[in-house]
Amino acid sequence: MGSGPAQLVTSVKAKMVKETGYYDTLGVNPNASPDEIKKAYRKLALKYHPDKNPNEGEKFKLISQAYEVLSDPKKRDLYDQGGEQAIKEGGLSGGHFSSPMDIFDMFFGGGGRMNREKRGKNVVHQLSVSLEELYNGASRKLALQKNVICSKCEGRGGKKGAVEKCTTCKGRGIQVHIQQLGPGMVQQIQTMCSDCHGEGERINAKDRCKQCNGNKVIREKKILEVHIKKGMRDGQKILFHGEGDQEPGLEPGDVVIVLDQRDHAVFQRQDDNLIMKMEIALVEALCGVKKTVDTLDGRTLLITSHPGEVIKYGHLKCIQNEGMPLQRDPFEKGLLIIQFLVTFPESNWLSTDRILALEALLPPREHVMVTDDMDVVELVEFDPKEESGRYRGEAYDEDERPRGGVQCQTS
Ligand SMILES: [Zn+2]
Ligand SMILES: [Zn+2]
Repeated sequence: MGSGPAQLVTSVKAKMVKETGYYDTLGVNPNASPDEIKKAYRKLALKYHPDKNPNEGEKFKLISQAYEVLSDPKKRDLYDQGGEQAIKEGGLSGGHFSSPMDIFDMFFGGGGRMNREKRGKNVVHQLSVSLEELYNGASRKLALQKNVICSKCEGRGGKKGAVEKCTTCKGRGIQVHIQQLGPGMVQQIQTMCSDCHGEGERINAKDRCKQCNGNKVIREKKILEVHIKKGMRDGQKILFHGEGDQEPGLEPGDVVIVLDQRDHAVFQRQDDNLIMKMEIALVEALCGVKKTVDTLDGRTLLITSHPGEVIKYGHLKCIQNEGMPLQRDPFEKGLLIIQFLVTFPESNWLSTDRILALEALLPPREHVMVTDDMDVVELVEFDPKEESGRYRGEAYDEDERPRGGVQCQTS
C-alpha cells in the first residue's frame, strides 16, 4: 500500500487521531489516501466475503463498518476527532451501519437489493496481475466452479410431476418449535425445514433426477478467458454478463473479475504515470549522469543529463510517453517520472589535504563569525524510532520508555 518501492521522498506529518480502530481493521495508517482505503477494503472484503469465508461473518461486518466510515470524508473527519463514539452518536444515517452486503454490492456493482431478488447473485473474483501485464496487455484463463441448471431434468430436480409439497413444513420451508422457558413462558423458534432444506417441496427418492440428485443444479467447471487491455488499472472490474451461478427461475448473475496489481520492484504507478527512484553517486549528481532503465516491454532507455547540470537529492525529472499506455488510446502513454536519490560518500573518504583541494573547487561556503557568547554544542546521531516513541508513549510499557525524552547516542 503506502510503502511501494518508488514512494517519493516527501515528509508526511503524522496525523493526530483519537482512535485508530477502523484504520487497524483495514490495515492502513491514519494518513492513508482515499485510494489506499479503497484498495484495503477491496482486498479484505473479497477475502472475508461469506461466500469464501463463511465463518468470518463478524470480521466481514467490521471491515464493512470501517470502510463505511473511512470512505466518507465527513464521517472520517468525525471519527478522527471523536472516535467510534462520535460516529455512533451522530455520524450514521438512521443511527446504524449499512448492511455489509449492501456496501459490498455498491463497491463491486452488485445491482442492489431489488435486483438481487430476481437475479442470482454476482460472483466476484480477484485476479492478481503484474504491472507488465497491465502495460503490455495480456490474456489469462481463469477456472471457476459454478452452478448450472441440470440438463437432464431441466432444473426440476426429478420427473415431471414428481415434485410435491413438503409434508413436514406444509410447503413453508420453515419449522416452528415451541420451547418451554418456565412456567407460562414459551419461546417460538423458527428453523429451516430439514426435510426439504427450506425449499418447501420435495421429490420422492425414486423420482429424483439421477444426474443432479434432485438438486436441480450441478457444479461445473468453467474456463473464462480474461482479456487484460493495455493501460487497465489496479481495481478495475471486468464483467462477464450472465456467467454467475444459475438457479431455476432466476436470471443468472454476473461474474466480476477485479484486477489486483502486484507491487513492482522498480516502478510505481500513479494514474497514467510511472514513478521510479534512481540512485546516483555524488559524482553523477555534479558531473553528469548516464544510466539505463529497463522498460516494462523489454526496451532499454538511456538516461543522460546535460553537461554542467546539477541534480539535487530528491530532484524529479520525467520522460514523456514512457509511462503507462492510456486505455482509450494505447499508443499514447503517460510520463515516466524519475526521482533522483544522491548517494553521498562515507565519512573520511578523502584525506584532509585533498579535502582542501576539493573545497577550492566547490562553491564558497558562508563564513560564520564566532563570538564568546555562543554556546558550542555537539551534533549526535538522531534516532527517529525513539522520537516517535515519545508521543506514542501509550503503546509502550512504562519501563521501555526512555526517561527524559530522547536518548542521545554518545559514540
Ligand atoms: Zn419442508
Ligand atoms: Zn437433474
